[in-house]
Amino acid sequence: MQVRCQRCNYVFTLSREETAAALQEVQETEIKHYNVECPKCRRQVKVPAQAIRRAQPRQDQPSDA
Ligand SMILES: [Zn+2]
Repeated sequence: MQVRCQRCNYVFTLSREETAAALQEVQETEIKHYNVECPKCRRQVKVPAQAIRRAQPRQDQPSDA
């Protein structure tokens, strides 16, 4: 999934593994945002949990929507 840094507007891509890890944390902790580090400016970038859920490719997870 693509993430845009709110500080420097650098757009970078989370790998499938990173996205999966983010999704797991979102689901386990019910956080509203997942923090990733901008590779350019090293700032913590907040990724909305909803965006992470949307970015996740289809799996055998039940949809609770
Ligand atoms: Zn940045």
